[in-house]
Amino acid sequence: MHSAALAELGLAPEWTYEAIEVAPADFERRVRAMAGEGFAGANVTVPHKLAALAVADHASEAAREIGAANTLSFREGRIEAENTDAPGLLGALPGPPADTRALVLGAGGSARACVWALSRAGAEVSIWNRTGSRSDLLATDFGVAVARPVAGAPLAIADFDLIVNATTVGMSPASGDDPADLKALPVDADGLHERHVVVDLVYGPAETELLRAARARGARVVDGIEILVHQGAESLRIWTGKDPPIETMRHAAREADAS
Ligand code: NAP
Repeated sequence: MHSAALAELGLAPEWTYEAIEVAPADFERRVRAMAGEGFAGANVTVPHKLAALAVADHASEAAREIGAANTLSFREGRIEAENTDAPGLLGALPGPPADTRALVLGAGGSARACVWALSRAGAEVSIWNRTGSRSDLLATDFGVAVARPVAGAPLAIADFDLIVNATTVGMSPASGDDPADLKALPVDADGLHERHVVVDLVYGPAETELLRAARARGARVVDGIEILVHQGAESLRIWTGKDPPIETMRHAAREADAS
């Protein structure tokens, strides 16, 4: 996705995008070294997003309020942190979420970015999480409501316009683990209808059981690849100062997913 974008922007082969695996204990040393090695920046993923915020000399308001960073930039020896998961979600939605009733499932790092982004954009946000203490904490941090299933029944899904899965439910399990399926979420698939927008952040696989169920009932769906493309495009904009070629990035990401 990034390689295709860099080529289209005329920045390749001087600019390249590569994966670097780093252990948590080595994260800070490695990032500080990169700043002096000619890197423009880095995307940071699990489990390093908190450490990425901590290592930065300056962090955006979004990164500070969400409490995590997925994008680092190296400028004149300084490390700057940003969170593009938030604009990535908003960019992938079919329309602005102002005045919609949104349900965010999950209370991990990406759920925090979703709740922050949707609240900022004017949605009325409720959250649900398997571990209730984490949803309570997140709700307090962001001033949103907690959706509580009554006596183990699914949530009243008709009360929401937008449903965002920010849990790992639907992800291909690590070898040896059982897959967590739709039953792990308090969503009654039969309550989904054509006026719902259903977003799943999971991109491995992109066609999750939740999205299949939503699509079958006529809901509009946004998959994890679309979010990935938009958050990646925002990172690229920060590093290069250029408008990212979204269509090229989407095409490359979908081709890679299909292969
Ligand atoms: P995380 O911080 O580890 O949070 C995981 C969340 O999943 C927690 O809320 C956890 O609930 C919940 N969960 C895990 N197993 C569950 C189960 N069996 N039943 C119900 N809930 C369960 O992960 P994250 O970084 O937020 O990422 C979440 C997902 O979003 C991942 O699939 C990730 O790949 C995806 N993601 C996609 C993009 C994108 O660009 N498309 C960007 C970021 C993340 P508990 O608190 O109860 O453990």
